[in-house]
Amino acid sequence: MQNSLLALPTLSERDRAVIWHPFTQMQTAPLPISILRGEGAVLYDETGNEYIDAISSWWVNLHGHAHPYIAERVAQQLRTLEHVIFAGFTHKPAVELAERLLPILPGNQAKIFYSDNGSTAVEVALKMAFQYWHNIGQPRTRVIALEDAYHGDTFGAMAVGGRSAFTAPFVPFLFDVDYIPAPVPGREDEALAKLEALLDETVAAFIFEPLVQGAGGMVMYQPGVLDKLMQLARNAGALLIADEVMTGFGRTGRLFASHYLTEQPDLMCLSKGLTGGTMALGVTTCTNAIYEAFLSDDKFKTLFHGHSFTANPLACTAALASLDLTLSEETQANIQRIADRHERFSQVLQGYSTVKAIRQHGTILAFDLDAGGQTSYFNNIRDVVYNFLLDRGVLMRPLGNVLYMLPPYCITDEQLTYVYEQVEALLKTL
Ligand SMILES: *Cc1c(COP(=O)(O)O)cnc(C)c1O
Repeated sequence: MQNSLLALPTLSERDRAVIWHPFTQMQTAPLPISILRGEGAVLYDETGNEYIDAISSWWVNLHGHAHPYIAERVAQQLRTLEHVIFAGFTHKPAVELAERLLPILPGNQAKIFYSDNGSTAVEVALKMAFQYWHNIGQPRTRVIALEDAYHGDTFGAMAVGGRSAFTAPFVPFLFDVDYIPAPVPGREDEALAKLEALLDETVAAFIFEPLVQGAGGMVMYQPGVLDKLMQLARNAGALLIADEVMTGFGRTGRLFASHYLTEQPDLMCLSKGLTGGTMALGVTTCTNAIYEAFLSDDKFKTLFHGHSFTANPLACTAALASLDLTLSEETQANIQRIADRHERFSQVLQGYSTVKAIRQHGTILAFDLDAGGQTSYFNNIRDVVYNFLLDRGVLMRPLGNVLYMLPPYCITDEQLTYVYEQVEALLKTL
């Protein structure tokens, strides 16, 4: 018997009654889609729809949803040790993860500091950089960042990000940062000249997303010019912070974007793909020189930073399991396969007059939709594109008029073909 008065509310309706979602205007947003389960690159909702997760659920998922190997490892760890205070205590997953991360990072990285997510990994890097100068008695206080950078949503991370509508209400509370343009093709010399002009003995750090600025619109640039920027900053004594929260763990083709560089950063920030997208975990790594500046009989030289769930054993275990999968031949072949297929699809995209600035680094393919001169995140085209693809079972989340794909490495050729076909179907309507 059907009786609408007795009908149980859906999960989406129950959600609306009690939950406030991220990056969401709750007054106008449609009800959220409630996902019951995931498998591989596919998400299944409560009404029986399927979605190919072409953006790896906000860039975190590497090996597919509910991966059985990661699940099994985390389940075992859950029965062994779920959590323990990380000051004065340690545990096997944290030690093993640090032991396994350091050899695959740029050779100068010497220590691993755990935190909770990408934003906290950036906060820790900034605090290490500022306190490094404080501890060695040469206080440097300025930071140079790239325009349109995104480093997270906590205050320090916001401060070193580009100023935009997202940060507008908080501008009075953000410390000042100097910006140089991202050294995209055609603006390399401008970026180099601007950096050179800004650098002096007050600059504590230069922070950047190597090769790909994610949230800023999948802005891409080449390693050669980043090496030059890093050399300039290094010569002026500034510390180099590579925010690889998004680019880490194979996204750009190599394990880390920093592996395309000859220069090495002093500090690195990792998160997102770190646990294969299973759970939240952040890592900040640093050189011995930085670490040693905190060693002292003077307690005031301590890095006073930590989170309740620092180095959570479950998260570290998920990261260890994800690393096994990432380093496997199968995954490495998949990364190459996706990169090759993206490259071929780029050729196809060139045939569409509405497609501009096609760009790719490894498994990330992005392009601008020419939407009549409007290029803001708040552009209508964003909603049109999002809904068009969602209706066809493809989860993509354009950044304004920037459409991009950043799939889990396990996405099959058939699924990838289907995603490309839907993008082409969309382009034919524009
Ligand atoms: C997502 C992101 C962050 C913030 O990470 P959260 O885990 O969302 O706090 C920082 N830096 C970059 C480059 C990112 O893409």
